[in-house]
Amino acid sequence: MLSTVRLAVANTLSAVRCSQALAPTVARSYSNSAPFGSLADEEVLQKLTTGELQHHNLERDLGNALRAVKLRRKHVASMLESNQKMSRELDHEGFDYEQVIGVNCENVIGYMPIPVGVAGPLVLDGRQYMVPMATTEGCLVASTNRGCRAIALSGGAHSAVLRDGMTRAPVVRMPDVIGAAALKDWVEADMSGERKLASLFESTSRFAKLKGIKVNVAGRNVFLRFEGATGDAMGMNMISKGVTKALDFLQDTFPKMDVVSISGNFCTDKKPSAVNWIDGRGKSVVCETIIQEDIVNKVLKTTSASLVDVNNVKNLVGSMVAGSIGGFNAHAANIVAAVYIATGQDPAQVVESATCATLMETGENGKDLHMSVTMPSIEVGTVGGGTHLKSQGAALDLLGLRGSASSAPGDHARALARVVAGSVLAGELSLMSALAAGHLVRSHMLLNRKPTLHEEQKTEKIIENEKPEKREEA
Ligand code: ADP
Repeated sequence: MLSTVRLAVANTLSAVRCSQALAPTVARSYSNSAPFGSLADEEVLQKLTTGELQHHNLERDLGNALRAVKLRRKHVASMLESNQKMSRELDHEGFDYEQVIGVNCENVIGYMPIPVGVAGPLVLDGRQYMVPMATTEGCLVASTNRGCRAIALSGGAHSAVLRDGMTRAPVVRMPDVIGAAALKDWVEADMSGERKLASLFESTSRFAKLKGIKVNVAGRNVFLRFEGATGDAMGMNMISKGVTKALDFLQDTFPKMDVVSISGNFCTDKKPSAVNWIDGRGKSVVCETIIQEDIVNKVLKTTSASLVDVNNVKNLVGSMVAGSIGGFNAHAANIVAAVYIATGQDPAQVVESATCATLMETGENGKDLHMSVTMPSIEVGTVGGGTHLKSQGAALDLLGLRGSASSAPGDHARALARVVAGSVLAGELSLMSALAAGHLVRSHMLLNRKPTLHEEQKTEKIIENEKPEKREEA
């Protein structure tokens, strides 16, 4: 059983995402073999049709990544009349496919160009960041930019990383509930079990540092949530390797233990969960700013009191009514997704990375706006994954956060997590202001008096001007 699991883990690790270090080796080995490299295009297409050649092996068989992409597109286009439009319009020229093969994507037929805008400067922790955002949602960058401006004019934002640890939770099955309890005890008693597992876990990478194991039992199933620091990598591959090694040892110690899955969903990766919201996953970050009243009025066109009111009713009460987990915000996912796509993060992790509580209150003078975002599960890296790709790497360069930090492992990834939180702060501020401004205008009109026709038109114009902001909301 264990060997099957090991194989599955190995396959998952290599198929889903090989390490950055592996990429050049894989690409080189393709150019070296190329058993069908001398065939003419027509012959290759013919062999694809007969099944003698397969799509997923084309790079290896032809020894030329760009040629493989072109012929795969041609073959796909020939399969259906409707595919021909794709072959004309899906971009594929001018991209270095060698960097992708064996690392980021399979069966490649092109690439998806997404516009990249920039918001900033985001003044955060005494530094200025120009934030890259890849999006097709009009107004998102403009709105985040407006939030950045209000923050900068107010002296900037401040952030803190409360916790830093990627998690992976395998599920193992014991013969009975007593065995499950015994395993929990072994891991937790005097921390000696955990210490043993930590040394094995950490032997798999110089960056992996085990921070703890949270054990939950359900019947005879035991869920072991390993949490570890992973340097500047987002860390899923790294943690999975460490966990596999620890599981080998556990299997020897508990021969009747059955490893059901390397991931038992108590991790929790790419799914909504209370455990991430409460315990955090990746980087847990808080970020705040105090916006002076005149800036709330002039730049954001509203008042602090109105913002606090709308925030309470919408982001807190509204999300409570909806039974939300971590959705106590207006549109954090918009900003997280745009920054993730631009900087080569895993976009599927927006599910938990965008959980966020946006809080607003009036400052000590009763007039300024004191605002914060609390984001417990920002999963980012500046090495590994998509971060090594040329454009994504350039976006990280824009932030000054590409690759390994020379100061201490993890400094770049933590700084990127702070930038994500700071950008969300700006995006939340701007959209909430648009909503509050609309609310303010409407309530004045309703409460003060019945407007004249001229005033009605003026009001509509103001609301119309704010509409793009509203459109950002998911
Ligand atoms: P992930 O664990 O996020 O999936 P990868 O395994 O794809 O990431 O990439 C991490 C790789 O980068 C590992 O092989 C690791 O040894 C290497 N690496 C180089 N510098 C660093 C660093 N500063 N922090 C973390 N990993 C690093």
